[in-house]
Amino acid sequence: MSTLAVIGGGPAGLMATEVARAAGVEVDLYDAKGSVGRKFLIAGKGGLNLTHSEPMPAFARRYREREQEVAGWLRDFDADALRAWARGLGVDTFIGSSGRVFPTDLKAAPLLRGWVRRLHAQGVRFHMQHRWLGWCEDGALRFATPGGERQVRADAVVLALGGGSWPQLGSDGAWQDVLRERDVDIAPLQPSNCGFDIGWSPHFTERHAGAPLKPVVAHWRDATGREHRLQGECVATATGIEGSLVYALSADLRDTIARDGSALLHLDLAPGRELARLRDALAKPRLHRSLGEHLRRQTGLSGAKSSLLHEVLDRTAMENPDTLAATIKRLPLLLQRPRPVAEAISSAGGVRLEALDAALMLEPIAGRLPAGIFCAGEMLDWEAPTGGYLLTACFASGRLAGESAAAWLARNAPR
Ligand SMILES: Cc1cc2nc3c(=O)[nH]c(=O)nc-3n(C[C@H](O)[C@H](O)[C@H](O)COP(=O)(O)OP(=O)(O)OC[C@H]3O[C@@H](n4cnc5c(N)ncnc54)[C@H](O)[C@@H]3O)c2cc1C
Repeated sequence: MSTLAVIGGGPAGLMATEVARAAGVEVDLYDAKGSVGRKFLIAGKGGLNLTHSEPMPAFARRYREREQEVAGWLRDFDADALRAWARGLGVDTFIGSSGRVFPTDLKAAPLLRGWVRRLHAQGVRFHMQHRWLGWCEDGALRFATPGGERQVRADAVVLALGGGSWPQLGSDGAWQDVLRERDVDIAPLQPSNCGFDIGWSPHFTERHAGAPLKPVVAHWRDATGREHRLQGECVATATGIEGSLVYALSADLRDTIARDGSALLHLDLAPGRELARLRDALAKPRLHRSLGEHLRRQTGLSGAKSSLLHEVLDRTAMENPDTLAATIKRLPLLLQRPRPVAEAISSAGGVRLEALDAALMLEPIAGRLPAGIFCAGEMLDWEAPTGGYLLTACFASGRLAGESAAAWLARNAPR
């Protein structure tokens, strides 16, 4: 009987395992950690945004340059299929007001527990604390285990090793060196859905690190120079900003910084208030009131929002109602760098899709890489904003890789 080794027990690896097993393949699942799905469980802390209800053409556009390829993965397993699959594990889902889809109990643990139990019952063999190190000269897989190095033979392999964010949960990107050594083409991992450094004054950091900035409207330019706007919420950090609004723009901002050395983001601190009316309100006599009190009374801005104005305007400019109103509507923030990938929600970069065929098998490289090695999940070179798009593509690519591996084994491996 031919065997498949799935390495990496996140959503992508578990899904590959499930479909390959359903196709009658013997599956061994390996993971470096003591249990599977650690990042999936952490995603559950934020409510587990499983997928999104947006209809397909718009859904696929979330994958930016990789829209076409990911749309191909989603053809067999889209948001509806994912919801039906969760239902099969006894987990109902609902569509939130933003169109995002969550499990009814907003938790990942029941879904993961039920899934792992089902995989055990189906005969999948789990091998935890097995850190994949690469291949031996004779093609066997090498694993570091608590009992020393173990070498294992498999007829096909699915690599689902994750990206580079939150490495403490298992996906540390160490696989990049192993695959590069084998001449696999890999785009360097970069932060995606990440915060940015701005460099506040010590005064601002001391008082406002952690303060929410909501609501605000962001204005920014993409790589083609087109201006966009989006309303949402962000958070001032000790060094800059983060939060759902910033994550949604992070790919554009990161790419602009890579090209130009910095990126300009404008925030409207008073959405819904017109510039002219703000200016008129600020031009009213201040009398004996402090500038901060005047600002609060006339515009409603206080705390972190008010302090942000002091970060970009000097005293004279703050006293000028025209300048102050214009800055409230378009506060310029010069972003210096993205936060490190380890802090990001996800990573961009990874195994370039050109290195794989349409079935997600790595193109064999004579003398370097045999046929029958498939890849899935966040370790592939695509990115998407938060909103359930990340997990959906991980599940869908895992499914495709598992099905493809089973089909490949049926054609090529000993029975
Ligand atoms: C805080 C947080 C919240 C998130 N919330 C959401 C959300 O709500 N919705 C959403 O769509 N996405 C969310 N994401 C992103 C989502 O969790 C990931 O995109 C997804 O888990 C990636 O799945 P994966 O299977 O590709 O990799 P992972 O889930 O990272 O799994 C990879 C597995 O491979 C194992 N591994 C790595 N290297 C080795 C090795 N050398 N040997 C053996 N095993 C190895 C790891 O231990 C790990 O178990 C969130 C991420 C974070 C950090």
